[in-house]
Amino acid sequence: MKLLAILRLRCPRCLKGSIFRSFWSLHKECPECGLSFEREPGFFTGAMYFSYGIGILIAAPVSIYLFLQGFSETSIFAIAIAQLAIVSPILFRYSRVAWMHFDQRMDPR
Ligand SMILES: [Zn+2]
Repeated sequence: MKLLAILRLRCPRCLKGSIFRSFWSLHKECPECGLSFEREPGFFTGAMYFSYGIGILIAAPVSIYLFLQGFSETSIFAIAIAQLAIVSPILFRYSRVAWMHFDQRMDPR
């Protein structure tokens, strides 16, 4: 259920309310249960860790494959950067939601 809620970008407490108001902006609180989505100033700094981890999961398999195929380090790096640039809007959304679910699990409110 939690994983499905993360994939569907839903509230970490009720698993029903939509977190995003539009593609880039979040609701201030859950439209279903009223949970405040930004607990404190700078709350989403922790989402950077999830963004980093998800980015590695996305770029590493292709980079390893290209390395094994004999591509140069420069082209592997350029392709990894291009991959991350393409998926950055998705990374932005999912890293925030994953961080919110992690934080809610560690410190339920
Ligand atoms: Zn909720």
